[in-house]
Amino acid sequence: MKESAPVQLLHDPLFATKGVQVYLKREDLLHPTISGNKWRKLKYNLQAAREQKKDTLVTFGGAYSNHIAAVAAAGKEYNFRTVGYIRGEAHQALNPTLTFAISCGMQLHYLDRETYRLKNTANFLEELQHKYPSAYLLPEGGTNLLALKGCTEILQDIAVDYDYIICAAGTGGTLAGLIAGLAGEKEIIGFPALKGGAFLQEDISQLIFSYGGQHYHNWELQTQYHFGGYAKIKPELISFIQYFKQQHQVQLEPIYTGKMLYGLYDLIRQEYFKPGTAILAIHTGGLQGLAGLEERLGLRLT
Ligand SMILES: *Cc1c(COP(=O)(O)O)cnc(C)c1O
Repeated sequence: MKESAPVQLLHDPLFATKGVQVYLKREDLLHPTISGNKWRKLKYNLQAAREQKKDTLVTFGGAYSNHIAAVAAAGKEYNFRTVGYIRGEAHQALNPTLTFAISCGMQLHYLDRETYRLKNTANFLEELQHKYPSAYLLPEGGTNLLALKGCTEILQDIAVDYDYIICAAGTGGTLAGLIAGLAGEKEIIGFPALKGGAFLQEDISQLIFSYGGQHYHNWELQTQYHFGGYAKIKPELISFIQYFKQQHQVQLEPIYTGKMLYGLYDLIRQEYFKPGTAILAIHTGGLQGLAGLEERLGLRLT
């Protein structure tokens, strides 16, 4: 397991025209199966589980969830039993994400959407503890304070100078970790993958405060690049991902990193950044889900 991922300077005629520099931190290269930010979020949780003598990781997610895939892989590599509660009905043909999870030994249970919504209630959690007495519980998406701690390490040992950090946001845990780790330095922009991403503002503020007892004001969310919602995929986003791959030989996916970099290109085009600005974009990984998305949508992104 590598503790740091390479930083790559991106070359694009647009960046030259607008006088900005864009670097990409390749967290997608951190680990072959425990992808990018999910590895950062799990690291200290796995340590805590071991210290608490828990032998089972229990978690939640959608059928295409990068977090589910990462927990399954981590369980296999670090010798934990893993249990995944999947939102929705069981399908006859498993998608590649769930096939992978099962191949890592994860035990899957399906929860209808209504029951899934109750997963954080005292009743449900009590039942879980009863069923799996030695369970270490990881929330959906893996966001908790130990996850923030892991994400602060994304910015260790960056050898280049930069003014802005940009990162995609689902639960906002990764972004909160970056902001907490920077402790008021630089500017940070988050790109929510979900529609109505403004609710994240409050969640992220609270996470940062719980983590370090501080509030910071050097960050913002750009909420207009969700493309209609979490897994809504528009043709211009697909074309952008194909362009990006051709231009930079870097694969993106359409849920998180594709939207973030599309948004970055758009902001650069609008001259949001002063000439001379250096931007460090975080490639948070998440490529495991691509095969399933391509299959479901009948298109090619790779
Ligand atoms: C899960 C994920 C995110 C979102 O992380 P949060 O900490 O939930 O905001 C971003 N990018 C990728 C590739 C992911 O898999």
